[in-house]
Amino acid sequence: MISGIGNIYADEALWRARLHGTRPTETLRRAEVAAILDGAREVMTQALGEGGTSFDALYVNVNGESGYFDRALYVYGREGLPCARCGSPIRREEFMNRSSFSCPRCQPVPRRARP
Ligand SMILES: [Zn+2]
Repeated sequence: MISGIGNIYADEALWRARLHGTRPTETLRRAEVAAILDGAREVMTQALGEGGTSFDALYVNVNGESGYFDRALYVYGREGLPCARCGSPIRREEFMNRSSFSCPRCQPVPRRARP
């Protein structure tokens, strides 16, 4: 479900939705899907409001000294730092050939999907 969203936006949207990235899409309830989409929209709206003109430009800034990513990211690149919501240390996982950042308490790893 999140494959069409950039890593940063996916991680941030999932944190806002309080969902873990490995949740199989088919197990998501309608309200959870809505929460992810709301989270993604919120992240992107905020990013653009901070002066970004394209998502490509925002990516470039990740490795630079951009103010946006310093101020507005809750999980991406924050391994070991406290979650803004509950204070638990943010975890980093390898997920689909990339690093994914999430909160272990707000975004518990899902149980295996029912067959
Ligand atoms: Zn948390």
